[in-house]
Amino acid sequence: MNGKISQWKDDKGFGFIASDDGQKVFFHISSLTTKSRRPEVGDCVVFASTTDAQNRLKATSVAIEGLAKTPKYQNSTNVEPKTTNAFDYFLIVILLLSIAVVVKSYLDSKNIEQSAIFGIPAVVAFILLGRQKKPKNRSFNCTKCKKSERYDSRTISAWNRGSTRLYCNQCHVEWLRNNPRQQETYSSSKSGGCLGTLTLMLGTGLFGGYTVIDWLVQMVI
Ligand SMILES: [Zn+2]
Repeated sequence: MNGKISQWKDDKGFGFIASDDGQKVFFHISSLTTKSRRPEVGDCVVFASTTDAQNRLKATSVAIEGLAKTPKYQNSTNVEPKTTNAFDYFLIVILLLSIAVVVKSYLDSKNIEQSAIFGIPAVVAFILLGRQKKPKNRSFNCTKCKKSERYDSRTISAWNRGSTRLYCNQCHVEWLRNNPRQQETYSSSKSGGCLGTLTLMLGTGLFGGYTVIDWLVQMVI
């Protein structure tokens, strides 16, 4: 049905629609489907109606014409996945080079303390690889309720862990309430990032491999 808002009590959240066929239809703010602004007297509306217990007409869904049905979010942004940038690749190169130098130095000198010094850049690079990055956008849209929310320390660290499904605080609290056992694992999993860990594993594996081979060679000779 079509009509026009004839009365609207904004403080009480209800009003009446004068329908095109001459009926007066009650409507409450909760039946409004266009949420981008409050109703005003004179707004043209499209609505569906039902009758209440006293046989009075009551609108069930009211849409103000010309307004979007779903709320529009300004600066609506999806969550961009964390990416590896040029600096990260540079750090990986430093990390691998540093490990290679340590291995070479150890094989030459057989002095682990002396060779370990060359590993300092690797440690620095590893720490820098595990650093927290900041998302490009200041806000994100909650995966669950689609509400736009500013990034905070919780969502930034979730994003750094590679998550692109972020919840607003309200939905997060709700989620924790429904998944109490997840709370511990959620807050304790503050790893430095997959890439850094992988590189370190690769590096120590490489170094360990060399040392073992070296040791075996010595045993054989
Ligand atoms: Zn939410």
